Amino acid sequence: MRKLFLLAILVFISILPIAQAQPQPPATTTHGSHPAHGSGPGTATTTYFDGAIWWNYVKVLAGDDMEGRETGSFGLHKAQEYVVEQLRRAGLEPAGSKSYYQPMQFESRQIVEKESSLALVHQGQVEPLTLGDDAIFNTRVNLAPSVEAPLVFAGYGLAIPELNYNDLAGLDLRDKVVVIFSGAPEEIPGALASHYQSASERWKALRKAGVRGVIMIPNPAAMDIPWSRISANRAHPSMALKGAEFDDTPGEDLALTMNPERAQKLFPGSGHTLQELVDLVKDRKPLPHFELALSVRARAVVNRKTLESANLAAQLTGSDPKLKNEYVVLSAHLDHLGIGEPINGDRIYNGAMDNASGSAVLLDLIGSLKKSPQKLKRSLLFLFVTGEEKGLLGSRYFTAHPTVRPGSMIANINIDMFLPIVPLKVLTVYGLAESDLGDMARETAESMGVQVQADPEPQRNAFIRSDQYNFIRHGVPALVMSVGFEKGSPQQEIFKNWRTQRYHAPSDDLDQPVDLATAGKYEEIVRALMIRAANDPGRPQWKANSFFRRYGPMASGSF
Ligand SMILES: [Zn+2]
Repeated sequence: MRKLFLLAILVFISILPIAQAQPQPPATTTHGSHPAHGSGPGTATTTYFDGAIWWNYVKVLAGDDMEGRETGSFGLHKAQEYVVEQLRRAGLEPAGSKSYYQPMQFESRQIVEKESSLALVHQGQVEPLTLGDDAIFNTRVNLAPSVEAPLVFAGYGLAIPELNYNDLAGLDLRDKVVVIFSGAPEEIPGALASHYQSASERWKALRKAGVRGVIMIPNPAAMDIPWSRISANRAHPSMALKGAEFDDTPGEDLALTMNPERAQKLFPGSGHTLQELVDLVKDRKPLPHFELALSVRARAVVNRKTLESANLAAQLTGSDPKLKNEYVVLSAHLDHLGIGEPINGDRIYNGAMDNASGSAVLLDLIGSLKKSPQKLKRSLLFLFVTGEEKGLLGSRYFTAHPTVRPGSMIANINIDMFLPIVPLKVLTVYGLAESDLGDMARETAESMGVQVQADPEPQRNAFIRSDQYNFIRHGVPALVMSVGFEKGSPQQEIFKNWRTQRYHAPSDDLDQPVDLATAGKYEEIVRALMIRAANDPGRPQWKANSFFRRYGPMASGSF
């Protein structure tokens, strides 16, 4: 850290406001029965945020009356009205297509299980599968009413030309359904693995090989949500953006997720066992490829509806005559899962951490700028997107149809479930090594006494699992930052337990332990990074060796 230290200090001083630090209103919040704990010794001074106002915003957005903020729902609309009110009060200019709103249309799809069925066919013998216990339909894909096709096991189902890696080579996949494991072998670097595992990239390769459908077995060692919870909400509608330009999986007739504990049903007569494969997947080892002795027979009845939802966009115009035409984009998804199957009697999936927490950071940043105005050279664009939980759809729409000039967005700082549940010692920066923005984030955090690390769990694919990914794909250097832990530390267990118990469950609500000092410090880092990106003379560039450089502004021809 020493080499960067002097530079970091200079950076920090240069972004200090002229006005003295403004004290925040006193904390009046409580967290159910769980008091917030402090960050302990070694905490750098926090200037603007103590976490209390942040928590007040979280309480509003994750309240039961917001009904879990599902895309297209009354609850999300209500949350949006609240956010728009805050934007107005702060004097931010509308930057949507209809004032602060950018509406878009979705197709909602719900499986009708009573009229749907699934079976394996083995030498003329039909073995019915139980929907929910054995497998579930993935309605994000536009399912065909019926499919019957032989099965082939295709490893991870990945084709990565730049590494000469191809799970599909040598297999006859025409009109077959492939069985694959989620994940990627260890030899493939994190960002690249994430990119090629996105639904669109994986399907591109499979489609080219003639594949009709996909049965995905989750890697049991990397499942955030236990199967029982995945299965419980399988009849919850999924959504897709209307318009062929947004169809990531054209021609995919069948998409199933198989319960990894029941997946041995796919392998009899293949000469392989599920256990043998799971042992390899657990260690992210290469997988064999082979034909299976079975066919799948599927009937899927899907209820389709059209609905509308919107992103929210607001801007704070910069002061430099030239640079004000460029934007630093701060984004967070406001939507969550809505009302679903009850767990312990609770049906409201409040999404306090996912992602009322990130939306609250944006609101708190906006409030801090109003109280302690900064002369910023570039403009700031605050974006509260919809449809994230449905597959990053709001950010997908925004980046395809931006409300500011394409190419004017110089950086995206996305905030999604940053999890202030332990003292902030380590910040995980997803996308750290990909662009200059990563260096800025490192210097900013280190100047505040916080260590920085790259993604410690690349197999979780966090890099493509939130809205920053759509900015990356449109050439905008982007990152997302979370409160981190050192591998093997006791904190790792805290995060793991949080994911198993609260992630995408009704218990991600207001009654959970939260570290307000950590939240405040996180906000300091975001604010300092945002200001630095807004004032830096040059725009952040992709690293010469970054895979994602191919999407960069020069490549996309936006200029
Ligand atoms: Zn989520």
